[in-house]
Amino acid sequence: MRQKRGSLFVISAPSGAGKTTLCQKLREVVPDVKFSVSYTTRKPRAGEVDGVHYSFVDEDEFRAMIAEGEFVEWAQVHGNFYGTSKRRIEDMINEGFDVMLDIDVQGGRQIKEHFPDSVLIFVLPPSMDELKKRLTGRMSDAEDVIKKRLKNAIDEIREYKNYDYVIINDVFDDALEDMVAIIIAERIRTSKIEEGWIIENFIKEE
Ligand code: 5GP
Repeated sequence: MRQKRGSLFVISAPSGAGKTTLCQKLREVVPDVKFSVSYTTRKPRAGEVDGVHYSFVDEDEFRAMIAEGEFVEWAQVHGNFYGTSKRRIEDMINEGFDVMLDIDVQGGRQIKEHFPDSVLIFVLPPSMDELKKRLTGRMSDAEDVIKKRLKNAIDEIREYKNYDYVIINDVFDDALEDMVAIIIAERIRTSKIEEGWIIENFIKEE
């Protein structure tokens, strides 16, 4: 294998910035990036499948997992708990896969502390007006949820400085191209190349 360990990417954004669609499309154009499935106490939305979009658990189960040290990071977001399994991501990285975490800014901070080499990407909407429009147009959430998310959006945007890259999701295809560029650049870092592979293929004499 050319690449030693996989890279760990974090993608965060205020709700409504278009992160979910970006991630969905990214799966199609860079299929060998694995998305980590988080645990959450949030109830499944229509179309969400347990074990695919999230692993849905109740609060008691979630608290037991915190106590057992199962999470590399966890946070309360919009009133629900969300957490990333340490074992799930370490297994994928050790197998050489690039792993993408779609998590909030509190989680991003914890991941950077635990994995200083992780690459943090922050997605911004083109403007606050556009963000409001996008949130109001969404039918899946109640009005009070939208209000809460707008208030949270400003606090989340303040955290952009903890991130390595900022992508503005105005023209979708451009934003996607930016994300792909970041992933590709990370893959070809010298530190990611297995030295044995270079020696075997380019240096070793017959
Ligand atoms: P949603 O409920 O809309 O799927 O997600 C709400 C927010 O929680 C999003 O910002 C999403 O990125 C974040 N989130 C999802 N999984 C995790 C996780 O495992 N940890 C953290 N910290 N945030 C998460």
